[in-house]
Amino acid sequence: MTPPVPDRDCPLCPRLADMRRASRADHPDWFNAPVPSFGSLEARLLCVGLAPGLRGANRTGRPFTGDFAGDLLYSTLAAFGLAEGRYGASAEDGFRLVDVRISNAVRCVPPGNKPLPAEFTACRPFLAAEIAAMAKLRGVLAIGRDAHQAVLSTLGLRKSAYPFGHGLLHHLPGGLVLADSYHCSRYNTNTGRLTEAMFHAAVGGLLGAVGTPHPQPW
Ligand code: SF4
Repeated sequence: MTPPVPDRDCPLCPRLADMRRASRADHPDWFNAPVPSFGSLEARLLCVGLAPGLRGANRTGRPFTGDFAGDLLYSTLAAFGLAEGRYGASAEDGFRLVDVRISNAVRCVPPGNKPLPAEFTACRPFLAAEIAAMAKLRGVLAIGRDAHQAVLSTLGLRKSAYPFGHGLLHHLPGGLVLADSYHCSRYNTNTGRLTEAMFHAAVGGLLGAVGTPHPQPW
């Protein structure tokens, strides 16, 4: 069953609706709406990010597309055979995901990349419905601590039982594996908090844990 998606003018988060309106006025050629997930609901893997970036997904209309974080995420997925085609930083680039879907915990761009707790709560039903609709889902990659916590909340699990840690694998009730990574942001890579090798290891760890036949890039 296709999960519900938010309306383009979803009013549930007034602060984010205001930001959308302001961005539409400033940049009428940008997407400026709740960003839909990318990839098939038949996928066995789901990557969950925090929220659209202002000049990334909010501009292009595809998660992680058009900013630095997407460069690292999509090159990594391609290296593992989880994507096909050439990533062109545009929703029209023809790039395709293979056995993986990408979503955000909060679907509208938040000021300063920081959603409020009430905004996570308001947007949670959309992620919950999507996870419920992914009948073959085996593994989730949480891209950053906030995404990790949002996934646990969405699944109704206690955060204290599954502390965040880069490279950790959490075996959740029901057989789902949750893998943690630091966010693949420019800030984290520039500061050395996250290297490409570390990000590859986190993705590879998840693939190993769910027993996929995908190639390893090293
Ligand atoms: S973040 Fe989610 S719940 Fe909030 S306005 Fe956007 S789509 Fe609606």
